[in-house]
Amino acid sequence: MGETIIPLADLRYAAPVPRVPAQPVAPNGLLADRLGRPLRDLRISVTDRCNFRCSYCMPKEVFDRDYKFLPQSSLLSFEEITRSARLFVAHGVKKLRLTGGEPLLRKHLEVLVGQLAALRTPEGEALDITLTTNGSVLERKAEALRDAGLKRITVSLDALDDAIFRRMNDVDFPVADVLAGIAAAVRVGLAPIKVNMVVKRGTNDHEIVPLARHLRERFGPAVVLRFIEYMDVGATNGWRMDEVLPSAQVRERLHAAFPLEPLDPSAPGETAERWRYRDGGGEVGFISSVTQAFCRDCNRARLSTEGKLFLCLFASGGHDLRALLRGGFSDAQIAGAIGLVWADREDRYSELRGAMEADAGSGGRRVEMHYIGG
Ligand code: SAM
Ligand code: SF4
Ligand code: SF4
Repeated sequence: MGETIIPLADLRYAAPVPRVPAQPVAPNGLLADRLGRPLRDLRISVTDRCNFRCSYCMPKEVFDRDYKFLPQSSLLSFEEITRSARLFVAHGVKKLRLTGGEPLLRKHLEVLVGQLAALRTPEGEALDITLTTNGSVLERKAEALRDAGLKRITVSLDALDDAIFRRMNDVDFPVADVLAGIAAAVRVGLAPIKVNMVVKRGTNDHEIVPLARHLRERFGPAVVLRFIEYMDVGATNGWRMDEVLPSAQVRERLHAAFPLEPLDPSAPGETAERWRYRDGGGEVGFISSVTQAFCRDCNRARLSTEGKLFLCLFASGGHDLRALLRGGFSDAQIAGAIGLVWADREDRYSELRGAMEADAGSGGRRVEMHYIGG
């Protein structure tokens, strides 16, 4: 027998119950954290399960048959998620991203999308609702999601070559099915569709140009390919800096095949640097989480599958919002508690990464990506 890895599923991550203010101040959209950053973007993980075992996220050796995923009773219900989202929206959130694990594995997800699509900002505007998926069942679900009110979608795809893709998802899943999912999303009108490729040097970096070429030829500007630097999220993926291919080098390689020119960023706090093909073939993006920190404008909060609020992708602990949701507290009290948590936020892991010990995080074991989503 090899080394036994004790799953943290039951202990999960330290999560104090947020303090409820005695006299909650009504949210006014002006909430800012200690570094002056507003709250605009909420990423909601709807399941910690996944049908893939990407080695950089849920390596098979850890997430095996014995791994204890969260029991159904721990998960936030759709009503609890929608109620939380409504309170975040009152604080200024304008964008919701459903993620996971694999969000399309959560049963009847389109019902949740419908509930979230009915929410309005204090100004009466609809929210920008999107979803990140591995695309494995997208072909079947694209239409129902669109009908429920989903406007945009991001599909993760790390290689065009079938053998490399099967190796990277580590469950022998064929690339053709993900491409069919992207085609279905284009067909039902979810375009422009973002396709995220995590680039790992020595594993799939030779797929940069072939994947870009295929997506350009098949979908044109309806698909925006974005390259993500392989990140040191969690504690299970055995991350090494020499496996990161800096975005600048990815861009050089792409530019050599298809000349590029820069575009202006579309929104503050946007994670991707935007470029476009000079020949009108559409847009591409580069997300340089490792080589170019973007914490300064980070306006994202994350809600885990079991209702813990995380203030940073690299946080080691969350705040137990579910305890309040199930504890008989009023909307005003919970909104007040969210306000206090955000006001106290000072996370900026990526900016500090260089100065910190590789595994120190913000004081403990870091949260896993599949648990709070990307
Ligand atoms: N299962 C869905 C998917 O793969 O799109 C949603 C959840 S997944 C955790 C969200 C995103 O995180 C994906 O685009 C995935 O490629 C990215 N991701 C996971 N681990 C990563 C890592 N170590 N570095 C960079 N991106 C990572
Ligand atoms: Fe699953 Fe997405 Fe993680 Fe891959 S990146 S293991 S598809 S959650
Ligand atoms: Fe935001 Fe944390 Fe990422 Fe910085 S490291 S951009 S604070 S999630």
